[in-house]
Amino acid sequence: MQSTRRNPENPEKEEEHSARPSPVADAQGQEDAGNAEPLQEYLDALPIAAAVIGLMEGSAAIIAANARYDMVSSSMVAFGDSDGSIPLLSRRGLSEAIRDFFQSSAGAREFEWQEGGAISGRHFIVRLAQLPPRGGNGRCLLSLVDRTTEIETQRSLRAEMLRDSLTGLPNRSAFNGAVDSAMHAPDAAGNFAVMVVDLNRFSRINDSMGSLAGDELIITVARRLVSVLRGGDMLARIGGDEFGILLRLHDGPDDALQAAKRIQATLLTPFRLSELEFRVDCAIGCALLGVETVSSEDLLRNAQFALKRAKQSGRVEIYEAEEASIARRRFSIETELRRAIEGDKLTLAFQPLIHLASGRVTGFEALSRWTHDDGRVMSPIDFIPVAEESGLILPLGRWALDAAMRTLADWDRRAGMLLPVRMGVNVSPIQITRDDMATTITEALAAHGLGGDRLMIEITESAIIADPERANRVLEELKRIDTEIAMDDFGTGYSSLAFLQKLPIDMLKIDRSFVGRMLTDRDSLAIVRAVLSLAESLGMSTTAEGIESVELAETLTALGCSAGQGFYFSEPLTADAAFAYWAGRNN
Ligand code: C2E
Ligand code: MG
Ligand code: MG
Repeated sequence: MQSTRRNPENPEKEEEHSARPSPVADAQGQEDAGNAEPLQEYLDALPIAAAVIGLMEGSAAIIAANARYDMVSSSMVAFGDSDGSIPLLSRRGLSEAIRDFFQSSAGAREFEWQEGGAISGRHFIVRLAQLPPRGGNGRCLLSLVDRTTEIETQRSLRAEMLRDSLTGLPNRSAFNGAVDSAMHAPDAAGNFAVMVVDLNRFSRINDSMGSLAGDELIITVARRLVSVLRGGDMLARIGGDEFGILLRLHDGPDDALQAAKRIQATLLTPFRLSELEFRVDCAIGCALLGVETVSSEDLLRNAQFALKRAKQSGRVEIYEAEEASIARRRFSIETELRRAIEGDKLTLAFQPLIHLASGRVTGFEALSRWTHDDGRVMSPIDFIPVAEESGLILPLGRWALDAAMRTLADWDRRAGMLLPVRMGVNVSPIQITRDDMATTITEALAAHGLGGDRLMIEITESAIIADPERANRVLEELKRIDTEIAMDDFGTGYSSLAFLQKLPIDMLKIDRSFVGRMLTDRDSLAIVRAVLSLAESLGMSTTAEGIESVELAETLTALGCSAGQGFYFSEPLTADAAFAYWAGRNN
């Protein structure tokens, strides 16, 4: 019995039916007649769609099929040119496979078959198995396992994984995927840019108004961003308050700047969250897809470098290749510096401070030096910032204090008396905020049997501006152990007079940028004069940094500056040379 008979109204069935040889009609059928019932029974007993197919005059036809097969077949109506339904066996992909199979000598074959569009199509695992031929005609068993639901679930799972659940936008990994595809386009270089938009102070909104409000803001921002992008651009949420945009450039890099302007403009309109109205600023970093970019992650990282710069400059920044190499260099400096500190590879140089009126040495400033294994000497201007950024400034700072105190104790021993000099040691703002300075200093002094009055701590204005209360507390503690405090590079920061007055500062060190220009530049001279009279009225002493000539030394002496330091007197020296310098000048 044929299943077609059970579905007489199905148009496809008619077609297939006509293609099916009647088991009763032909000779083959005669032979099969006795077996037709068991064949159908076997097929009906199968848990999957199955049919026995015969090869008749070069084309495949159904000999018997189970109800599941009919269901699949009837649920997949497809119409040909003449509007007649196309039988399943004649569908693209399947008909060729069946023909090939009959031509081959394979016993069985299994393959995936998809019918319909990529999105709405159906997916099957098709299995063909050879059956013994009848009447010289090949036969096989065709079975179909429908995997459509499974594949759709997988697909939607994947889609879910690529979507940011809050905004519904593609997430970071989808964004990377899209950037990756764009990069592999043949005309990619110069035609794409990756932009990163970061909301300023978003965490403050989140903290003060709650995360629900934060979420609402993110959604609104996303909506606004979408509205200013062009077709073909892609917006993704790649972090908490960070959006990524893949831009297609039509007129080169200028396009990216135009897009950035549109983004900034759309965020200018205030946002309204539960009664409150406020503005959200953003920082924008951009990286252009060039020939040298290797991966989507690289490109995104480049855009984030630019973003970092944008946060400081307040402008839209486009990534430049050297930034990455600077960052890499910093990283390798950091690693080497850590080793240098651990391996005791740093040294100190000592530059004398001269009492201008008498010419006597009143102290030395200890300056860190880093000599690499290959003999290269690296300037503290280059490695102190790295140490500050990496936190290495804490061990470095403790080392410098200890080494300076050890040297001073050594000089005392050599001179057979307490040398009438103070040792100046530079202390970074990071040390003030993160280290327990009073304890560190007390320990360094104690380790070498020195009193606090032998030490002068040099701090900069930024150390105070960062956290004035803490700085004041630390300085008061240092005063209690008799340590003197100098304000280094004075004039380059922003400290106000009122501010200085409250702090226990003993000395102002006038920055060498003013000292160096004071003979040629009236403004610099005016600043030096002002600092000198300020110091006098606050009861502080003064040291002029960077005295390189006799004229400068004489002018500063005449102006009443207490001390001077600079190449005119001496460059920073080794410990031995510094001791000899002291002995030579003070005896
Ligand atoms: P600074 O504390 O202002 O030190 C004075 C700098 O000016 C030194 O540079 C010194 O060599 C240089 N100098 C002295 N006289 C002259 C001169 O006549 N002309 C010119 N052109 N320069 C002169 P150096 O040793 O390169 O140190 C640079 C800066 O690095 C220091 O500036 C200080 O801020 C920092 N530094 C050095 N050692 C340490 C340290 O152990 N810890 C911390 N936190 N900072 C340090
Ligand atoms: Mg200094
Ligand atoms: Mg200085």
